[in-house]
Amino acid sequence: MPIFSKITKDDVIKAFQDRFGGEPDFWVRTPGRVNLIGEHTDYNGGYVFPMTISRSVWMGARARNDGKMRVYSVNYDSELTCDLRAQLVKNQDIWFEYIKGCAWALQEEGRPLAGFDAVLMGDVPMGAGLASSAAMEVTSLLTFSEIGEYELSGQKLAKLGQRAENQWVGVQCGIMDQTICALGQEGKALLIDCNSLEHRLFELPYGTAVAVLDTVTRHSLAASAYNERHEQCEEACRALGIPLLREATQEMLYAGRGGMTDVVFHRARHVISENLRVQTAANALFYNDADLFGKLMNESHWSLRYDFEVSCEELDAMVDIARKHESCLGARMTGGGFGGSVVALLSVMSAGTFAGYVSERYQEKTGKVPNITICRATNGGRVERKS
Ligand code: ADP
Ligand code: MG
Repeated sequence: MPIFSKITKDDVIKAFQDRFGGEPDFWVRTPGRVNLIGEHTDYNGGYVFPMTISRSVWMGARARNDGKMRVYSVNYDSELTCDLRAQLVKNQDIWFEYIKGCAWALQEEGRPLAGFDAVLMGDVPMGAGLASSAAMEVTSLLTFSEIGEYELSGQKLAKLGQRAENQWVGVQCGIMDQTICALGQEGKALLIDCNSLEHRLFELPYGTAVAVLDTVTRHSLAASAYNERHEQCEEACRALGIPLLREATQEMLYAGRGGMTDVVFHRARHVISENLRVQTAANALFYNDADLFGKLMNESHWSLRYDFEVSCEELDAMVDIARKHESCLGARMTGGGFGGSVVALLSVMSAGTFAGYVSERYQEKTGKVPNITICRATNGGRVERKS
């Protein structure tokens, strides 16, 4: 599969012309995201602190009047069609299910579905912990709403996207990815309370940059381990007699330790301490304290590695190497874990040599060529029409 970089609206229009002839009526762009801190807290009703990145999933679409949805995936070089007027049927494990899942979620809401031709293409690497799936869901939902001539708020987009992924695709993800992909803003990070869905934008500290370091490893363990961690968190809740781990304090956890296995205790300790770290990180941004933010990222990695046990050799190697560079204020694994990416906060003054330094040492250590990007936060999902 080709890996695209820096897709523009002109690429989308050209892909549409090549495939279907003529121009799309509109195009949609939704960025992926990187989570700065707050990992595995979203499905526990806790806090997360992601920002959008300058890589996106795009669709260019044109209405058709027979109720059919025909989508050509440029990344997969594959075209699939379904009839939106007939009962939607699930298939196994293919990219088209994310779009059908969104159609289903809209149907469940009583929204009308109208047909269209579309090209789909993205430069968010898939399965790298950068939320390509959520970007694709928000893009699909915006396409449906534009064709159907109704508006969906950012929060509605997030809920529908999560519903599609949970109930149609079958991944028990939390609400973070879809929320940031829909609501992110240029140059800002978004603190989200995943229980109330309240959210607040923050400027990144002055003089810093965010780097995403893709280890280019994907372990097949990831999906099953994710669901297992989710269950262990629920087990901790049962032992503590609470509905969500966000309600637990460290005191409650230590007092209730006798009622749970050691493994469950460590899982819960990660979630509880991570929630505290995110709130402290928000304070750090309020006071423009980049050093503190970086330290909290380092602690988060420790907790994910030893308490939650979702890191792996490559992620640990990347974190260690990144931290050795003079510009690095903090680094941690980001996303679900077991491969994927590391996020690092850098001081821009000395960041010029960071990518080369890390790339060389990571290759020496693992024999793999990493993908390193300095990221800029871009606006969340948007529709643009021909002018
Ligand atoms: P991520 O961490 O990137 O969200 P997921 O496993 O949740 O990883 O989602 C990746 C899946 O999303 C891919 O396997 C594919 O089905 C779908 N996807 C993402 N981006 C695209 C794209 N540009 N074109 C087609 N499918 C995509
Ligand atoms: Mg995903």
